[in-house]
Amino acid sequence: MLTAIVGINWGDEGKGRMVDLLSEDYDIVARYQGGNNAGHTVQNQLGKFILNLLPSGILRPEVVNVMGPGMVIDLKHLCGEMDRLRQAGISITPKNLKISDRAIICLPYHVEQDGLEEDRLGDAKYGSTRRGIAPVYGDKYLKKCIRMGDLLYPEAMEKRLRGIVEWKDLLIHNGYGADSISFESLLEWLRTYGGQLKEYVCDLGVYLTEQIEKGKKVLFEAQLGALRDIDFGIYPFTSSSSTISAYAPIGAGIPGKKLDLCVGIMKAYSSCVGEGPFTCELFGAEAEALREAGGEYGAATGRPRRVGPFDIVASRYGVRMQGADQLALTKMDVLSYLDQIPVCTAYEVNGQITHEFPFGDHLAEAKPVVEYVPGWRCDISGCRKKEDLPKNALLYVAYLEKAVGCRIRYVSVGPDRDAYIDMEK
Ligand code: GDP
Repeated sequence: MLTAIVGINWGDEGKGRMVDLLSEDYDIVARYQGGNNAGHTVQNQLGKFILNLLPSGILRPEVVNVMGPGMVIDLKHLCGEMDRLRQAGISITPKNLKISDRAIICLPYHVEQDGLEEDRLGDAKYGSTRRGIAPVYGDKYLKKCIRMGDLLYPEAMEKRLRGIVEWKDLLIHNGYGADSISFESLLEWLRTYGGQLKEYVCDLGVYLTEQIEKGKKVLFEAQLGALRDIDFGIYPFTSSSSTISAYAPIGAGIPGKKLDLCVGIMKAYSSCVGEGPFTCELFGAEAEALREAGGEYGAATGRPRRVGPFDIVASRYGVRMQGADQLALTKMDVLSYLDQIPVCTAYEVNGQITHEFPFGDHLAEAKPVVEYVPGWRCDISGCRKKEDLPKNALLYVAYLEKAVGCRIRYVSVGPDRDAYIDMEK
């Protein structure tokens, strides 16, 4: 059984929480793209954890967690994340964590380049998290990166890295005018942090293929959502990797395998971090109230998130891009304070109403068409069965289901592991 859990919107839909919940039925949880640019928040009986790189299954001792070749890994950040979890009593060994030899290493100069470029752009900045993700993916396709497996061949790695640094310094020093990259401190960094991670490196394709043949179940965990996909998202305000489910087997090292199930995570309202078009955005007091109610501040950066009502146009597009078979609607409880719930039902572009997610400049010009549906005005965070939900909450779920064209299997009503409703029970 191969299942992907992916974001339908701009990210921050609560994927971490759903993976933590659903991983119970799986043997392996795989991350297949991205780096430490986003954060998954998982809250359970052990505490509250923000995971940037580690798969969310790491909080379940019996689950094996794998980091795929589609990822970019900042070694220092990963070591820090592992240390923090160990301090909370979570055991991490090569038995429950495996890293692909083909995963790319995000080096300190990638982080530096990210900051230098955002500063150079000034007001025109992309809103990068400045963690080196775009520069390292750029270098990956220029074929000028070091991979996790290279840590096992230090001499060859040193030789290749010397050539790469010579090239990179043309940009960092000669281009941006920053200090030259110190090859020695780079090597030291690789020795210090790479040394701690070497034992986790393996051929993930071989491992996963064997496990799948044995009948093990794999859960693929995406970072960010469909609208941040490098090809299908709000380019250039996207992530630098493929966030869609179709990429999951590739990014995990088993391109020949096919998914059996895709679960899309969709939030009961919208939020968007950073720059770029966000058609349904709310402003002023209305936005402030929703941001407060939903605690919408970036898990990785602490930045206040832009918020808006549920966006049918964007979500229907997200469901289609992800090929979602079923959905989890998260943070329903957040909307309990509203008498009337706003929903963005269409976009107006140059005086024309559209229901399709527009490209480029048309998206930038799009205005939201907002309609209101009745709220339920009571606390639903204690609901655990479909029958516990007030009528208007059930109507809201049915309305969204119809609007995006996909079944809502789960409704999440709180951050805790058990705070959800399985609509099929
Ligand atoms: P992710 O990147 O998609 O995992 O999203 P975030 O890390 O931003 O997680 C969303 C935040 O909302 C976290 O703080 C979760 O604990 C919290 N959360 C998730 N689901 C729910 C829910 O149904 N209700 C409430 N109130 N909070 C939730």
